[in-house]
Amino acid sequence: MSFEALGLHASLVQAVADTGYTTPTPVQAQAIPAAIAGRDLLVSSQTGSGKTAAFMLPALNKLANAEETPAGKTAAQEAQAARAKGERVRFKAAQPKMLVLTPTRELALQVSAATEQYTAHMRRLRCVSILGGMPYPKQMQLLAKNPEILVATPGRLIDHMESGKIDFSQLEILVLDEADRMLDMGFIDDIEKIVAATPSARQTMLFSATLDGVVGNMARRITTDPMTIQI
Ligand code: AMP
Repeated sequence: MSFEALGLHASLVQAVADTGYTTPTPVQAQAIPAAIAGRDLLVSSQTGSGKTAAFMLPALNKLANAEETPAGKTAAQEAQAARAKGERVRFKAAQPKMLVLTPTRELALQVSAATEQYTAHMRRLRCVSILGGMPYPKQMQLLAKNPEILVATPGRLIDHMESGKIDFSQLEILVLDEADRMLDMGFIDDIEKIVAATPSARQTMLFSATLDGVVGNMARRITTDPMTIQI
């Protein structure tokens, strides 16, 4: 089995080869074709199984397929143009296409670093991390670039969402990474609020060490006809 055979774009296959992967891991071999086909996924797998690529590669494949938006200005460029004309600058909310929720800063940074590797041969997709502990002005600057991909811890993301800095109406893909840990850390209400702000037609992929109990309940509530993968 090769990455090519899983149905990924040549640019992603090339990036994966550059990263040094030769063969998909079991979770990748099952998750990638199903996610490319548009299925929601519930995946029980551990760190080290290759789960990041299992959700990021099909997601990038989908974003690469989406029509390129016609030379639109970023919010930062619009703000600059308005300032040059002496107009008052209104902050325009970021409208990400993909959101990855992670329990910790460290995991979010790992996901962002992997995304950077996998997008090396693609048209520029901006990926921004929104993490607790990072200064707000810096995060506002990052959000003003209107990134396609957000990787975030739930608490800080809620702050930005509630103050109107992020609009999830254009979201196509939602990933919950290590969902059981996020629930253990008490993020359930934040997650519910975030999910409620996204379109119901989104594609949802949930990864967790276990799919039993509270996680399983939430997983079934936020997915549609999911494919369950147990590694
Ligand atoms: P993860 O489970 O996503 O945290 O990945 C664990 C580690 O495995 C990371 O260092 C990845 O870069 C690496 N990895 C992911 N997929 C593959 C693969 N198909 N072949 C070799 N290494 C991989």
